[in-house]
Order: sequence, then C-alpha cells, then structure tokens
Amino acid sequence: MLTINKKRFKEHFRRKMHNLYTQSIEEANNEEILNVLCCVIKDMISRDWEGSRLYQEKAVFYFSIEFLLGRQLKSNLLNLGFEDTVRQGLKELGIDLDDIMEAEPDPALGNGGLGRLAACFLDSMASVGISGHGYGIRYKYGLFEQKFVNNSQVEVPDNWLINGAYPWETVRPNRAVLVKYEGNIEMEEDEEGNVRVIHKDYIPVMAMPYDIPIIGYRNECINTLRIWKSEVPSRDFGKLSLYARNESASYEEALKHKYYADEISQTLYPNDSNYAGKLLRLKQEYFFVSSGMQDIFRKCRRYKIKPQELPDKIAIHINDTHPALCIPEMMRILLDEEGLSWDEAWDITTKVMSYTNHTILSEALERWSEDIMKELLPRMYMIIAEINSRYVDYLRGKGYSEEKVKRMAIMYDGEIRMANLCIVASYSVNGVAKLHTKLLEEEVLKDFYDEEPYKFNNKTNGIAHRRWLISSNPELSNLITELIGNKWIKDTRNLKKLEKFVDDEKVLNRLEKIKFNNKVKLAKYIEETKGIKINPNSIFDVQVKRLHAYKRQLMNVLHILYLYHEILDSEDMEIDMEPRTFIFGAKAAPGYYLAKCIIKLINCVADLVNNDPRVKDKIKVVFIENYGVSLAEKIIPAANVSEQISTTTKEASGTSNMKFMMNGALTLATLDGANVEICEQVGKENMFLFGLSAKQVLDYNKYGGYSAKDLYHSNKSLARVVDDLVNGFIPGLGKEGREIYDALITYNDEYFVLRDIDEYEEAQQRISKIYKDKLKWNKMSLINIANSGIFSSDRTINEYIEDIWFRGCDENVQNNII
Ligand SMILES: *Cc1c(COP(=O)(O)O)cnc(C)c1O
Repeated sequence: MLTINKKRFKEHFRRKMHNLYTQSIEEANNEEILNVLCCVIKDMISRDWEGSRLYQEKAVFYFSIEFLLGRQLKSNLLNLGFEDTVRQGLKELGIDLDDIMEAEPDPALGNGGLGRLAACFLDSMASVGISGHGYGIRYKYGLFEQKFVNNSQVEVPDNWLINGAYPWETVRPNRAVLVKYEGNIEMEEDEEGNVRVIHKDYIPVMAMPYDIPIIGYRNECINTLRIWKSEVPSRDFGKLSLYARNESASYEEALKHKYYADEISQTLYPNDSNYAGKLLRLKQEYFFVSSGMQDIFRKCRRYKIKPQELPDKIAIHINDTHPALCIPEMMRILLDEEGLSWDEAWDITTKVMSYTNHTILSEALERWSEDIMKELLPRMYMIIAEINSRYVDYLRGKGYSEEKVKRMAIMYDGEIRMANLCIVASYSVNGVAKLHTKLLEEEVLKDFYDEEPYKFNNKTNGIAHRRWLISSNPELSNLITELIGNKWIKDTRNLKKLEKFVDDEKVLNRLEKIKFNNKVKLAKYIEETKGIKINPNSIFDVQVKRLHAYKRQLMNVLHILYLYHEILDSEDMEIDMEPRTFIFGAKAAPGYYLAKCIIKLINCVADLVNNDPRVKDKIKVVFIENYGVSLAEKIIPAANVSEQISTTTKEASGTSNMKFMMNGALTLATLDGANVEICEQVGKENMFLFGLSAKQVLDYNKYGGYSAKDLYHSNKSLARVVDDLVNGFIPGLGKEGREIYDALITYNDEYFVLRDIDEYEEAQQRISKIYKDKLKWNKMSLINIANSGIFSSDRTINEYIEDIWFRGCDENVQNNII
C-alpha cells in the first residue's frame, strides 16, 4: 500500500516548488500550487505507474473518441487515501486544499453520457485492479463553454490547457508514432515473390502521446489514459515530412502541412448523439485509432508477443462506432507489417475486438462515404471493401434474399456503415441497458442477431460511486458508513443494508438534514452566480443532461407554464402547492437549432415566472450555465427530484438517473433506458412513472396513428401552453417560439411531448402530495440509496471482464482479478 508521511510530503512539496518555479510557496499562485501538488503526487505514484504489469496478464484497451474526466485531484487523493494528510500538510504551509481543487481545470474532452461512461470505466478498471487503459484524443479545445446572452446560448472556446499544459499529464516523445493519410497504395513483389503493400505519397502526421495516470481505489493499480496530440512530424521524423521529402516544396506548402496536422486534434466535435459526416472527424477517428493500434503492437513486439498470442493477451474495446477503424487498422498491421495471410489476420482480429452500441437513433449511426474513405484512407478502404466482399459472398451463400443482403452489407449505395463493420468483426456486441439491448436484438439489429445471437449481450451502464457519492456527497457517505460500516465502499451491493433503517425516524431525519445542507450550498452557488434567490425548503426538481429533443426538456418547461397559468387563474385564492425550484442544466450542439430554441424558451419562461409577484415564489426556474462534470457534482447531491423523461425507446441507458438515485433523489421517469432497471430495484411505488410504453412508441412509429393536432384541439389547457409559444405571452421569445410550435404541431411532435404531458402532470402532482409527508418521502429516498448499489460501474466492469474481455480465459487469471 502506498503511504504518505506529512513531514516528507511538506519537504517534497517545498523542494518541488523551488525546482519548478524557483520561488517560495508564499509567492506562488493557485495554478502553480496545483501544478506542484500534481507533480508531487505523480512522483509518489511513479513506481506503481511504470506499467510493468502490462502483459503479465491480459490487458484491455478501451478506445473512445471522448473521455469526460472531470477534475482529478479530489478523486486521486480519495483513491490514494492521501486527502487528510495532504490537506493538513498544505494547511501547515498556509494553503487551503479546497482553493487548489477549485483551481483545477475540468477537462471537457467529451459531450455527455458516452464520454462520462468512458471516464467511469477507467476509474473502475483501475479500482477492480485489471490492466485496463484508455486511448483517446488530446483536444486542444474541449467542449465549448456555454454563456447566455439575451437568454440565448453563446459558445466560447474551452481553453482548458494552462499555458498549453495539463497538470496531470506526462508527454512521452519517445513513444510518438506516425499516422498516414491520403496517398496511393502500391503492391511490390520482392525477390522471393512475396507481395508487399507500399503506401506512397501519403501525408504524414505525428501523434504525440500524453499520459494521464488512472489511480485505482487503494490497490496500487495505476493504469493509463493515453491521449494523442497531432503535430507536424518533428526532426526525428524529418525524412518523412512532406516538405523534407520534396525538396522543391515551398514554405507555403510546409505551412499547409503544419496546418493539416495541427487541425486534427484541435477541437472536440460538439455533437451528442448526432453524426455529422465531416472529413475532419474521419481524420480524427483514424488518428487516435492508428496511433493506439501502433502503440499496442509496439508494446507487443517489445514483450515478444506473437500475433497468434494476441487474443490471450489483449482485448480491444470499441466504444460506439467512432473507433471502428481499429478493425481494418489491425488487419493492416497484421497483413502489411506482420506478413500474415488474410485468414490468419481475420481470425486474430475477430477474437480481439468487442463493440458497444450506444444509441438506436438513426441520425447518430455513422456512415462514411466510400469516396471520402478511398481518398483519405486508401488502405483502410481496400481492407473494408475486402471484408465487405467476403461477408456479402457469405450471406449470398446462405441463400438470403438480396433485400436482406443489402440490409446487412457493410458497404451499400456508396456508403460504409460503421455499425455493421463493428458487428461483423467483433466477438461481442453489447447494448447499455436491458431495454436497449432488447431493441437492438429485436428491432434495429435483428438481422445480425438472427445470424449470430451469441455475440449479443447486455451490459447495463454504471457510474463511479467514488466520484458520484463519496467525493461529491461526503456527508451522506459518512452517514452511510456510520450506519452500515465501510464495506459498501469496495462493494456497493452492501448499501442494501441501509434498508434496516427505513422505519428509523432519527436516521430519516438525518438524511433529510443532509439533503437540506446540500440544497443550501447549491442555493448559495446559484445566488452568487445568477443572482437568483431560491428557497432551500422548496422541492429541487432537476433536469441536467445534454439538450436534445428526445430528452424532452420541452415537456418539463411546458409543464412549468401549466403551473404558472394555474397560479394566475387562482387569482388571490391560495392554491395548495408545495414550492418548487425547477433547475436545468444543458448544452445544445451549436448547430442544433431546435435545441437552442428550447434553451431560449426555458430562459424566457424563467424570467417571466421568477419576476411575477403573483407567483409569490411558489415556483422558481433556474437554468445553470455551462453544465459539466464539476457542476454535476454540485447539483446532483442537492436534488429531490430527478427528471428522466425521455421518449420511451430513445434513451439507451442514461447515467445521470443513477447518479441522482445514489444521492437520494426520487426519479420521475418514463420506463426508458436504465430507468427500467431502477424500477426493478426499488419497485414502482418508490418512483414516479408515467408515459407511453416502448411498445406504444414502436407501434406509433410503425403504423402511424398519432396526431398532435387532434390532441391540441381536444385539450384546452394543452392548447393554451402551446399557444403561449407564439402569441407573445412569453416576453423575449421571438421566432424561437414559432420553431418549437412547428415541431409540435406542423411536424406532428416526433417525440410525443403532447401525448405524454398530461400523465406527466399527474405524476408531478403525486410528487407534490408525497413531499408534504416528509417521513414518507425520506423513506423512499433511503430505499433508493439502499438499492442503487448495482449501478456502480465496478459492477458493470466486472461484467465486461467476465462475459467479454476475459471470457474463456484461464479461470485462475479471471479469479485473481475479480
Ligand atoms: C452523467 C453525465 C451526463 C449523462 O447524463 P444523462 O442524463 O444520462 O444524459 C452528461 N453530462 C455530464 C456532465 C454528466 O456528468
């Protein structure tokens, strides 16, 4: 076990401050102190982080185009068990650790759930103690910073690197690799008659690796997230650089090459669950895939692992289709560099690759044009075409109809379907919650499921409870430990023991008090940042997640308008209503116009409601700017109600639903994604369910029969709030209101907002009623916490290990690890 000694820590800290900045601690600002502290911690873990464990056991490589890490300092100190000593040591040096934690940048190298899942998985792989590493991109600019100007979203670049650097990273120039774009593929025959593939006239881009340590929970396991920065090849690679190769190349051409290289890792695409099909995105995908695969093979060669041994030594995981090129890239290396035959290479590749599908939204499925692939990545194109040709022959050989062959082909109609490529080449295909996996098997990927059912499996998502409970809600975490001991920290299934206290009023009151304290803290933050005073005794009703039509923030805000009208209608009669604070947090993709209109609507409704004296503070609406991991950590512990109201079938899993549950919020939900499993855990009497069933939604989609106009004409209170969008009732809302109105009425409400809103309203009334009965509410809250244990990502990762990555491995290896 790594240990820390306060005196030595202080000495180390002082020395490091001097070495790095030649100044005393008193002269340093918070950023410098943070940097020194990170260096000291990196020094302390360096021995465990040498990576010597690699290849002693099977290693997992998790490829993801996004890792939404959040701040690392608190969670690293927690996992190392150093927080108290470091806090005390710094205090004696005149430094407040909390100030330093607030000074840490929050790397937003992801959009939402998918990137956050990847980060939780890294934390869990290290904490369960496997050799599991991430490969991704070191974007110079992460997800944009959101500002509201005149109630509209404005995007500001996210300049997260301080003077170009991140305090937790270590750059490894001797591990840089070259990624090749464009050019021509030629076949050459050597003296022995072997055909060799030569890639000529390519554009070389250097990938520079930056390593971030991923520290397991008190187990000495330190894994690596390796993210790559694109650069023009440096002098070491000089012979290969475009303008060194071509002596007549001009200075302008050299600059063009530099621009070409730099651009690749410049910015994260801000689309969540939406495929844009841009050339630069494909460059990004190949960039981190090729770098990562070359890196893996370099390690294998160093450890003298033969290609045939790879399936026993490594597992490669493809997080959604963005890293799908792992498949042809591995084939390329095995064929062109290792000299294997196609059949040998295919056999190895398909025993190494596993794939997670994250969405059934058709607008999110990646399809690259064949022409673009051919031009940008000619060797990838050739290999994919060969995989497709063999697969189509195989399907025809089975006597399938041309219709079916078309549906299953990897290439069709000038396009390459990346999901099909992943399914065909992976030994495991998983969905991220039970309902989602069922929809994959029975609807979206039915042909493939019928063909190879054994490939398909479910792995319900999870969250790192260390970050989302222990470190973000210490009061609750301490109460839990006081009540049931600390075994739950290593194995969250022990949270179940909390159920003993469902009738213990003392415990329930303490639970309520902790929630209240968290609400006071959030209220203070909101008052400081937005100048809105909110009542900590009101129900904190929270919807925080990316802004997307399918997530239905629109239904939430239309319901607020309902309530507003009710209050106005009641005139001076006191209506019996629990005070509510509706809290939103959401970024919209900059090009997603409808989503931006909904942001504007929420902000305008907030102004209207918050400033109307007739409301008498019964409702308040707050839209917190710039939602991200750090804000989530402040908001979620303070929530009473968790809004998980997506159109059923559309949310593959959701993970914020789990974070809220673990922090004692009650869930207001459709039976979508992992809400189904939450319901299995707590029972429907301990949450607030409403809305269309999956079957009803599927039937509407298949057979039609839904008319938003009919609902509008037959329901007066509904028509009133829809009309508010366009009749000037909401000051400041202009053409955005018309856009939303059209989506609902003219385009027939694709996400069934008007169909579900009445039931949603009823569910909200049930919430108000139960909240009055504090004892009952707290009891339900406790039951939610007690049954949230299965949503730890440790459980999820153990399932990936047993059923996917280590399946069929030597049982001893498996048992040692789990
Ligand atoms: C957990 C999380 C998400 C995912 O939220 P969903 O409600 O599951 O979509 C998105 N963004 C951040 C910052 C998160 O922490």
